[in-house]
Amino acid sequence: MDVRVIRSKARQKTVSARMVDGVCEIRAPYAIDEAELKPIIENLIRRLQKKQARESLDDNALERRAQWLNERYFDGKLQWSSIRWVANQRKRAGSCTPALGTIRISSRMATVPAFVRDYVIVHELAHLIEPQHSPRFWKLLNKYPRTERARGYLMALGAEDVEDLEE
Ligand SMILES: [Zn+2]
Repeated sequence: MDVRVIRSKARQKTVSARMVDGVCEIRAPYAIDEAELKPIIENLIRRLQKKQARESLDDNALERRAQWLNERYFDGKLQWSSIRWVANQRKRAGSCTPALGTIRISSRMATVPAFVRDYVIVHELAHLIEPQHSPRFWKLLNKYPRTERARGYLMALGAEDVEDLEE
């Protein structure tokens, strides 16, 4: 997260943080010293990140995104019964149970770049057609232009297990 610290001679008695155009803007009293300020900023950033993650865990928004990706990469032909965020899926980025039409996306994906999150959704949607990681499956996935980059990102994150199937 990018951070900008603004020290203010006026008013300011406390340290505050808010997001401005994707940058975390910290306002601090002019006289506060670095050693005192550092842990306060770290704590504020942690709280902001948690808040952002919470706000992005919206199942309705996830459903809308999946519908959009369905239109774009599967001609709108796919159907599923539910897609939702789950918090207890630590290693897997997502999972799909094709027989039930249920898809789960790890809450960890709420804080990755949008192209990675989209990839995970497209991956799970493709399992509705092809449950195995077969050549046919990867052919479906290759319609999504950033598949390779997204897989690299997930691997670096230690979540290369987009690999998922639940019987
Ligand atoms: Zn998979």
